[in-house]
Amino acid sequence: MDELKKRIIKDGRILNDHALKVDSFLNHQIDIHLMDRMGQAFFDHFRHYGITKILTIETSGIAVACSVARNFHVPAVFARKTPTLTSVDDQYAAEIFSFTQQKKFTIMVSKRFLTSNDKVLLVDDFLARGQALLGLMDIVHQAGAALVGAGVAIEKTFQDGGRLVRDAGIEVYSLARITSLKNGKVLFS
Ligand code: 5GP
Repeated sequence: MDELKKRIIKDGRILNDHALKVDSFLNHQIDIHLMDRMGQAFFDHFRHYGITKILTIETSGIAVACSVARNFHVPAVFARKTPTLTSVDDQYAAEIFSFTQQKKFTIMVSKRFLTSNDKVLLVDDFLARGQALLGLMDIVHQAGAALVGAGVAIEKTFQDGGRLVRDAGIEVYSLARITSLKNGKVLFS
């Protein structure tokens, strides 16, 4: 998606060779019109799959998921990283490791919001080492739901997440694919 790539060049900030900050338009301050067009791009790609739920992980996936869900006219569901008052028995849970925060999380989704009747599209802002998507895949499998694919805004192809998720048999569609952040420069494929 050219508009997203141009915006990354204009407003993205390279933290180091591995991490990019896009908090002025994607995951802290949010450009909702860009979000709308990203939601449309994911819809155009996955529109024929009969999707019934968009599943993401809090916090930064939520805005993208809402834009996608608006196009599909289905609910967006986000996995929580913090426990709620709901009993654990009522939730699907999976363990993931966050490389950005260097810590382990248990992610949880209420059994009320994902069932074996669902066809699920996973959505996230970044795909890096694939931990978030693999955790969400685990939850979809626990629910007995069908997993249709994954849509990510920014895939860093120099990290191994894309390969891990695709090797697990999941179609991944990314709007911007970054091949390098070295020497203070963003390169796309
Ligand atoms: P993964 O689980 O694929 O290793 O990482 C995905 C999650 O880590 C995303 O939900 C995103 O929040 C965060 N993340 C990974 N790499 C980056 C990055 O370069 N910049 C930002 N802002 N977040 C990242």
